[in-house]
Amino acid sequence: MIFDTHLHTEFSFDSAEKLEAVLASAKQKNLGVITTEHKDLNYLEAVGFPIDFNVDDYFKAYAPYRSENYLLGIELGLDRGYTAENRRIALGYDFDLVIGSLHTMAGQNLSSRRFFQGMEAGNFYRQYLTYAKEMVEENPYIQSLAHLDYPSRYAPFPELFVEDYPEEFQGLFEALLAADVTLEVNLKRPLEGEVGRSFRSIFTGYQKAGGRFVTLASDAHIAEDIGRNFEDALKLMEEIGLKVCYYKKRERIISER
Ligand SMILES: [Zn+2]
Ligand SMILES: [Zn+2]
Repeated sequence: MIFDTHLHTEFSFDSAEKLEAVLASAKQKNLGVITTEHKDLNYLEAVGFPIDFNVDDYFKAYAPYRSENYLLGIELGLDRGYTAENRRIALGYDFDLVIGSLHTMAGQNLSSRRFFQGMEAGNFYRQYLTYAKEMVEENPYIQSLAHLDYPSRYAPFPELFVEDYPEEFQGLFEALLAADVTLEVNLKRPLEGEVGRSFRSIFTGYQKAGGRFVTLASDAHIAEDIGRNFEDALKLMEEIGLKVCYYKKRERIISER
């Protein structure tokens, strides 16, 4: 089964979706789903308060729904200084999947357009890709690295291409392989135009570096967005030669269609 490995419900600060609606939408689309609620303790530095939810309550509410098609995960905001606490949370609970995300970099909010003002694209991306590599090395307990394109959604910069930053990408790919962390295909944006070309470049580079697996992620905050752009992603991954997987009890499972 194909799984949507990254989506949010009302345990996330930016979603009001009900698990029941998610499960109904997933069933209708013939997809498995993993809820991955936001925990960004690092937002403390970026905006002055952490983005948080009670993990005990999450398990109490959602674990009874666990099935072959529904699994429990979390999306942890990675940044320097939060590694020990994130590891404690990740390993302290019976998650199926722990996603690592760079929503901030050294305490700077990567979704803030102001942060990018006056910055040069090349300088930023080299720094960002190196930081992502270091975060994977510091947090090897995660199963997947989310939305590498996150800053490209907000910055007034071109999309990321391996050809533009070959050394930095190589370093990141090697770190992912060494930690056995899967690179996520985040499908919040459709794979059209420059975004499609950028994703082809990134995932081809990942495959050439020895990467074999990807997770597919709608990053949905409402039930109807589950599985968005999956058909295009499945086609692209097949062309590149990457296998789609998901995680159950943190073990990788290859999806059969
Ligand atoms: Zn995220
Ligand atoms: Zn997310």
